Amino acid sequence: MILKPERLNGVHPDLGRLVARAAELAPWDLMILEGLRSISRQQMLFDQKASRTLHSKHLVQPDGMGHAIDVAPVLDIDGDGDREASWHWPHYNELAVYMKRAAAELGIRVRWGGDWESFRDGPHWELVP
Ligand SMILES: [Zn+2]
Repeated sequence: MILKPERLNGVHPDLGRLVARAAELAPWDLMILEGLRSISRQQMLFDQKASRTLHSKHLVQPDGMGHAIDVAPVLDIDGDGDREASWHWPHYNELAVYMKRAAAELGIRVRWGGDWESFRDGPHWELVP
């Protein structure tokens, strides 16, 4: 199941298909943390050093859609009975297995922020042009 699916609005439909299939493969629900991003928000993240680029794939691309999503596994991390988005690398590494399997099944070419050499970004997935 996908939580916060409205955050896929304005995002390329291939990313929605990808995350829907990954949610079927994964043992947890998945939450969309962010999809399409405004230029002003990107500038703010850049200024806060939370992003290293002003040319993020989260921004509207020439085809009029965003080409990146941030997605998190949802589970009860703290044991209080409520589920929350995980920020733990082991969960992101496991999620990457399901996302990459889904991408292979669907023939969608994506890049994972967790594979970047520096400034690794566990929740981040973007389409490869
Ligand atoms: Zn991202």
